[in-house]
Amino acid sequence: MLTVTIPVDVQQALRKALKAAGTDECGGVLMGEHVGPGHFAVRHLSVQGGGRFASFVRQTQSALRALRKFFNQSGHDYERFNYLGEWHSHPSFSVQPSPTDHQSMLDIVMDVRVGANFVVLLIFKVSHQGDLEGSAHTYLPDGSHGLSTLVLAGAA
Ligand SMILES: [Zn+2]
Repeated sequence: MLTVTIPVDVQQALRKALKAAGTDECGGVLMGEHVGPGHFAVRHLSVQGGGRFASFVRQTQSALRALRKFFNQSGHDYERFNYLGEWHSHPSFSVQPSPTDHQSMLDIVMDVRVGANFVVLLIFKVSHQGDLEGSAHTYLPDGSHGLSTLVLAGAA
């Protein structure tokens, strides 16, 4: 559906968050830049959690603060920079979304207050070899979802 690129600096932030959370889930909000047709780059992500990432319901206040900060820094260019979706970790199992993950994302994209045309869910883990692994899924307001392409920039 879409391609989502994770720049090296964001990968480093992710590794740090995953390491700090250990065997607990962590997650947050993704802010992206529209870099081409169907192609987004993650420019910023908030980190919440440590501790069971409570049924993946966002800590709304903290998420909104992160969004406001991002929009201030990016000059309120909503056409180019916007809320892209959510991320969280699956420290000890597959990076594929659970049924609850799918439903949570559909709840967000079908929420008229969010007003999103689509939302992306990224799930990450660090493999035993120390590599960052992830998956990307995109959700549409019509209730459909599909696999998207996750690109870890700089990886061979
Ligand atoms: Zn999950």
